[in-house]
Order: sequence, then C-alpha cells, then structure tokens
Amino acid sequence: MFLTKNKAFFYLKNNYYILNTENGALIKLDKNSYEHLKNKNIKKLSNEEVNILRKNGFIIDKNEYNNFYFNNRNNYLISKHLKSDSLKIDIAVTNKCNFSCTYCFEKENLNNYINVNEKTKNEFRKNLSDYINNKIKNNNLKKITIVWYGGEPTLEYDFINKINKEYYELGKEKDIEFNNIIISNGYLINDKFISELKKYNTSYIQITLDGEKDMHNHRRKLKSNKGTYNQILNNIEKLISNKIETVIRINIDKENFKQVNNLIDTINKKFSKFVGKYLFIDLSRVFGSEYSYTNYEFKDIKNNFTHKLFKYKFLEPIISNNGVNAFCSAECDNDDLVIDIFGNVYKCWNYVYEKDKAYTTLKEIIDNDFKIISRNKNRLDYVEKASLLTVNEGECLSCEFLRYCKGLCPDQRKRMIEGYEENIYKNDKCKEIVYSYIESNIKEILSY
Ligand code: SF4
Ligand code: SF4
Repeated sequence: MFLTKNKAFFYLKNNYYILNTENGALIKLDKNSYEHLKNKNIKKLSNEEVNILRKNGFIIDKNEYNNFYFNNRNNYLISKHLKSDSLKIDIAVTNKCNFSCTYCFEKENLNNYINVNEKTKNEFRKNLSDYINNKIKNNNLKKITIVWYGGEPTLEYDFINKINKEYYELGKEKDIEFNNIIISNGYLINDKFISELKKYNTSYIQITLDGEKDMHNHRRKLKSNKGTYNQILNNIEKLISNKIETVIRINIDKENFKQVNNLIDTINKKFSKFVGKYLFIDLSRVFGSEYSYTNYEFKDIKNNFTHKLFKYKFLEPIISNNGVNAFCSAECDNDDLVIDIFGNVYKCWNYVYEKDKAYTTLKEIIDNDFKIISRNKNRLDYVEKASLLTVNEGECLSCEFLRYCKGLCPDQRKRMIEGYEENIYKNDKCKEIVYSYIESNIKEILSY
C-alpha cells in the first residue's frame, strides 16, 4: 500500500483537503487523517478511510508507485513523437499590422513590412495543399485545424476565406473535421467577414482589449494614432450577436493592471447575456516590455482577476486535467507546422518572419518526400534542448503538478535556459505558481 506522489494538500477556511493531481479527486480530511497522510502514515488510517482513498486513486500498489517516473516519461514521449490523426497548421498570413501597439513584440518589424504578391500566395496555397493532402493520405487524418494569425490576419481576409473554404469543402468530401481559429486585433471585422466565418467553421476569434477606453487607445492605436476601442467593442458585439465565439484577450503589465477590474466589469455589463456562452476572457502576461511582470509576480495578479472572471462566468473553475502530454507542437516531432506566407517553417509562434529562426520550408519538406530534415539547430533547440528529459534536470517528469503545467511553455523553458527570463524552476517557484492556480479553482468550486 503506497500513497501516490500525484497529490497536493490544501488548507482552506479551517478545512484540510487532499487533491489527486492525476484524476482530480478532491477529499475533505479531518485533522488526524490529514496529519497521517502528510506523514505518509497510511497504517494509522481506518479501513474505511483506506477504502475511500484507494477508490479515488490516492492509495496505489507498489508497481504503480515505482513506475511513477517511467509512466510520466513514456506518456510525455508518446505525445511528443506520435503522428496523430489530427493536424494543426498555424499560419502567420502576413507580418503587416494596422496597429502600432506600445509593447508589440514585432516592434522592430514596424518599418519592415513585407508586401506579398499573388504569385507568392498561390505558391503557398499549392504547397500547403500538397502537404495537407499527403498527410490525409498517409496519416488517416480525422481533423484539420488552421490557426490564422500575423501581423494582423484580417488584412488578408479574402485569402483566409479562400483557404478556409478549400479545406472546409475538402473535409466534407473526405469526412474530415475542419475548423479554424483567428487571432485578431478585432478592428477590421465586418459583416461580410462574419458571414464567411459562420460558413467555414471558425471555432473562435480572439481579440485583444487592454483596458478601458483611454488606456486601450493609448496602448493599441492605429498607425495614424487614432484610438480603436469603440470600433473593437462594436465588432465584438457583432460577432457574439452572430453566435461566433469570441475570446477577449487582456494583456496585463504594470502599466494597465489597475484598469483590468473595471474593464472586466464593463465587458460584463455591456455583454452580460453572451458571457460564458459566446464571450470569454483570457488573461495574459506581457513579456519583454519595460512594464512586464515576471512570471512569479504575475501569479497573484492573475489569481485576483481570475476570481472576478469566475464570478461573472467568463471562466468555469476546473480541477481536472488532461494528462501528461507535450505543451505545444514546438517541442513535438509531429507533422504540425507553424509557417509564414513564404512557406518558412518555425517551431515557435513568437519568431515568425524572423527567417533565421526558421528550420525548414514547406517546399523543402515536399522535395524531401514530405519528411522533415530533423537535425537543424532551430528545431533541436525546442525538440531536444528544451525537452522535459533535460530541462530542470528532468525533475518535471517526477513532479506532482506535471499534468497541470506541462513543464511550462517550451519557449519559456528555452528563455530560462538562455538566461533571458527568471528561472522559476529554482526554489520551486513554478510549483508555487501552479499550486496557487489550483487553489483558486478549488476555492471557487467550494465557493470560498
Ligand atoms: S513554445 Fe510557447 S510561445 Fe512558442 S508556440 Fe509553443 S506555447 Fe506558444
Ligand atoms: S514546471 Fe514546476 S510545477 Fe511544472 S512540472 Fe515542472 S517542476 Fe512541476
């Protein structure tokens, strides 16, 4: 009889709880049982307590206990290398943008926008089609997802519509589910675009608002300096009235954090009947600006606002998880791609249009009989160097919280290795962040 390593204790409003971080089971404990469990003194528990704990996966047999690390490692490696029956292609369709945001990570590109001619677009379309059709033939695909982003993807919305239509129809013909997601600043959404989104299975559109009117307009303005807040709010209203799921992204740093509470109130008041149905809010940390919070600092900021999102039902609290798997395709050796309109293929979203960060091109993959030439540094930096087998000295694969945080975003791992970001693996700061995230969800579920 062994106590699982996949557990965490919580003390909330004078009550003790134990959470199974593998299956999400949560049990309230009296003080004695808590002490026994904390000290791994299972023998002191009553038979009834042992039975309940066993039923909920807290008490396991020796084999399972000893295989803790190997099971995590195997599941992680399978998800990293498995060629699955779903394919995700992230397309940075342009590097142009109609905004000039104060913190934009593409700042250096502002004077470096690339005009793309029809020939390049047609070539991209043809190569993409060859690639996807090859995967349909060889991987028995059941699902294709395209994520459109940029720059600002709506600057190319005719092109987006054409490709969405192509794969929507192909999906119908071959019985493959096609869906797409659009990451936009929300300024150019018009009725025509909305009707196309409805036709071709857009799962959701993500739009950024960074504060109430003045703050948003200061941070996210047009190139001409004109504010964008009113028009974006009108467009969000159009989208949700047309039953298109919309996620409002709020990028938070030290400049705008005081506004976030009021912004959430305003959105809730204005769109209350759509909240939790078609309208959701996602909070994100601004990285790399002079006002940025560190990951650790952001923990309490995010938890505070998350509480408000729960209250209004922009978010549902959740303590379950979806198992041990890779964080995103950047660390995977699968067929998913992150590409720009020239067909350059990257590992991470953050570096599109930085050609020296690409690891291959669509054309090169096609010419190589649809196989990726794997030994390229830009690729190995994510697949091997940032792998959970090596970062944090492999400790993540023995961590009780692995299923919740997946060992952090691979690009963050890489930045920590290279010293560009605070190393939150040190002193278990990462565990504190995950613990407090789970705790705030439990509090909400118990309505504390
Ligand atoms: S590595 Fe991180 S930033 Fe890059 S695509 Fe994956 S989740 Fe996004
Ligand atoms: S990042 Fe930290 S909390 Fe997450 S799995 Fe690794 S050690 Fe655990």
